[in-house]
Amino acid sequence: MTETPARVAIVTGAARGIGAATALRLAADGFAVAVIDLDEASTAGTVEAIEAAGGRALGVGADVGDAEQVQAAVDRIAAELGPPVVLVNNAGVTRDNMLFKMTDADWDLVMHVHLRGSFLMTRACQRYMVDARWGRVVNLSSTSALGNRGQANYATAKAGLQGFTKTLALELGKFGVTANAIAPGFIQTEMTKATAERLGRDWDEYVAERAAAIPVARGGVPEDIAHTVSFFVSEGAGFVSGQVVYVAGGPRT
Ligand code: NAP
Repeated sequence: MTETPARVAIVTGAARGIGAATALRLAADGFAVAVIDLDEASTAGTVEAIEAAGGRALGVGADVGDAEQVQAAVDRIAAELGPPVVLVNNAGVTRDNMLFKMTDADWDLVMHVHLRGSFLMTRACQRYMVDARWGRVVNLSSTSALGNRGQANYATAKAGLQGFTKTLALELGKFGVTANAIAPGFIQTEMTKATAERLGRDWDEYVAERAAAIPVARGGVPEDIAHTVSFFVSEGAGFVSGQVVYVAGGPRT
C-alpha cells in the first residue's frame, strides 16, 4: 500500500515567534512544512524542532517582498517538498513612530514586508492550490488594523491585509481555496519585546501592565495564534472564508 504524501504548508517569518509556533503546530497536524525566513540559517531551529518531533520540514531563505526570491523559494519548495496548498503569510516587521517623525523608509519597509510580501507569496502559491482544487491561505493581521498610535504604517498594512483576505476568498472560493485572517492582540514575542525596549520599559512589568488590560487577564503566546491557524487550515473549516478573527483575549485589546 502506498502512503498518501503529506500536504505541504508554507509559513513565512517562521524562524521564531508566531511563525515558528505555527510551523511546529502544522507539522504536528500532519503537514510537511516549509519554513521561510529572511536568512536560511535562521530557520534551522524551527526545522530541527519539527524533525525532532517526527515531522518533515525544509528551511528556505527569502525576502517575501522580493519577487525573484519568492518565485525561487516557492519553486524550490514545490520541487523538494511538494506542491504548497497551505500558505500562512506571517512575516512581519514594525517601524513605529508618530506620523510627523515617520520616514519614507519606515513606511515603505512595512508595506514591502506585509502587503507586497503577502501578495507575492499568495500569487506564487495560488496555482498549486487551484490545481489541487484545495487550499488554505491565512494572513496575519493585527488589532492595530483598528488604529494604533505610533503605527500609521503598520495599522495601514494590517487593515490592507483584511481587504486582501476578503478578495482572495471571493476569487479563489470556487477552486476549494479559503482565505482568512487572524488579528492578534498582544502576543509575547521578540517583536513586542523590541517595542518594550524602545519604550524603555522592563519586559516583565510591560507584560503585567498589558495583561491587566486584557479581559482574559494574560498576555497571548505564539501557540494561541498557531491554534487558530490550525483551525482555519483544517479540513472541517472549508465553509469558513473571508473572515477576520481577533485573537486578543477580548474584543480588541
Ligand atoms: P517576530 O518575532 O518579529 O518574527 C517575525 C519574523 O519575520 C522574523 O523571524 C523576521 O526575520 C521575519 N521577517 C521579517 N521580514 C521578513 C521578510 N521580508 N521576509 C521573510 N521574513 C521576514 O514577530 P511575531 O511577533 O512572531 O509576529 C508574527 C506576525 O504576527 C507578524 O506579521 C506580526 O505583524 C503579527 N502580529 C504580531 C503581534 C504580536 O503581539 N507579537 C500582534 C499582532 C500581529 P528577521 O528576524 O530576520 O527580521
